[in-house]
Amino acid sequence: MKIGVLALQGAFIEHREILKKLDADSFEIRSKEDLKQSFDGLIIPGGESTVQGKLLRELDMFNGVKDMIQDGLSVYGTCAGLLLLAKRIEGNERTHLEVMDITAVRNAYGRQLGSFFTEASFAGIKKIPMTFIRAPYVKEARGNAVVLATVEGKIVAVKQNNMLVTAFHPELNDDTTVHRYFLNMLK
Ligand code: GLN
Repeated sequence: MKIGVLALQGAFIEHREILKKLDADSFEIRSKEDLKQSFDGLIIPGGESTVQGKLLRELDMFNGVKDMIQDGLSVYGTCAGLLLLAKRIEGNERTHLEVMDITAVRNAYGRQLGSFFTEASFAGIKKIPMTFIRAPYVKEARGNAVVLATVEGKIVAVKQNNMLVTAFHPELNDDTTVHRYFLNMLK
């Protein structure tokens, strides 16, 4: 099992470290060339969605990534990754890959006060640590999108078919539940 971690910007190293803990191979995707390798899953890390979206377009990777996801490649988007996958972003925000039936609200907890830590139940498995950094939340999950976690009434994790998103950063804590959940989606 091999996971490609989009490494254009943001917290990609932390994802690779968690994958290593779980004995899953990973490599960094930095160019169109890297997309030619064979891999079983893709992680889009947290960071800045506008920057990642811009780089995906500038590096001519945008359509390749979108096609792979639409053809069934399993993808996990964290925070900015959630925003990249959302079909809609509230307000006049530019959307990106538009593959997941969710409406996201960007910088949803206020620009300065958007970082916090909490614990909440994930996918009915157990309570896990959740670190939010200038995070979005999901205002609406449509179609067959399934809500996996909420914090104070706000949706913070969703799965739809081959796609998983979290508004929080599990790669910044020791708990491996979310990554294990994603790896199980690949089987
Ligand atoms: N606020 C960032 C954005 O809009 C997301 C923050 C994050 O990924 N930690 O893309």
